[in-house]
Amino acid sequence: MKKPNPQPKNNTTGQTYRGRFAPSPSGELHFGSLLAAMASYADARAHNGQWLLRIDDIDQARVVPDSAEHIIRTLEQLGFEWDESIYYQSRHIRDYRKALDKLQEKNLTYPCFCSRKQIKSRSSNGIYPGTCRPNNQADKTTKTTEDKEYALRIKVPDKALSFKDQIQGAYTQQLAQGVGDFIIYRRDKVFTYQLSIVVDEYLSRITHIVRGHDLLDSTPRQIYLQQQLGYPTPIYAHIPLAVTKEQLKLSKLSRARKVRCDLPTLVQAARFLGQDIAPDNNYQSLQDFWQHLFDIWQLKQVPKMEKIEIMY
Ligand SMILES: [Zn+2]
Repeated sequence: MKKPNPQPKNNTTGQTYRGRFAPSPSGELHFGSLLAAMASYADARAHNGQWLLRIDDIDQARVVPDSAEHIIRTLEQLGFEWDESIYYQSRHIRDYRKALDKLQEKNLTYPCFCSRKQIKSRSSNGIYPGTCRPNNQADKTTKTTEDKEYALRIKVPDKALSFKDQIQGAYTQQLAQGVGDFIIYRRDKVFTYQLSIVVDEYLSRITHIVRGHDLLDSTPRQIYLQQQLGYPTPIYAHIPLAVTKEQLKLSKLSRARKVRCDLPTLVQAARFLGQDIAPDNNYQSLQDFWQHLFDIWQLKQVPKMEKIEIMY
């Protein structure tokens, strides 16, 4: 007889905890992405929550053939167990289109014809000055959207957006000054990261996002999009990034080394995440390690740092 699944514990908002790990298939799983996978997985399981795997393959030009399969196999070999079937962004183009339509209906978007060079020459800090905003009097040239390639930008308000990160604390960004009207649909006809993942998290009913520090300053943009689309905002936690001695992010290395699929690697990752695990802990199996990590996992032990240097 099949045993009934244990009833998941509820978080404070009354929903079941649903977390996720969302690698881009642009190379092997390296130590930096292992940290994000582990932190999101352990935090979900420590809350008796669900943990989903998503492959962020919307930008097909950046996809390295077979790397999604490699990442999935590596996660399996490391003992990760995800719930539900794997979500592929490339199968959700229609959902992104619908979200874009909704923003267009709300009159929040406009086409932008500026080249990178033009933006650079018009803005001292590289932030888009709103040149193509329909109500912008500075640019009088009439343009039709038919004969030129363009990107779609979303208008952002001139006000501060704040949220509380579970590791980094309060974070505030003035969208207009900090990023300006940002692109949600690229000139090369690809939905941007910001728009696509907001839709993904909504469709997957994600309640908790644990990911790398490099995405902290994208969060206000994503919360703004959630608000415009009428989606709930998940709870965020940004973990430090693993960098080399030269301060290079591992994903930026042309040949980021694949993680070793063994217990010492998992123990090392858990210790980087500030968890109370002795380096010489003698686990009998991967399952043993994971069960112990779920039992002792404390998100508040994760160091509140931007980067941690690792030997590489
Ligand atoms: Zn423009």
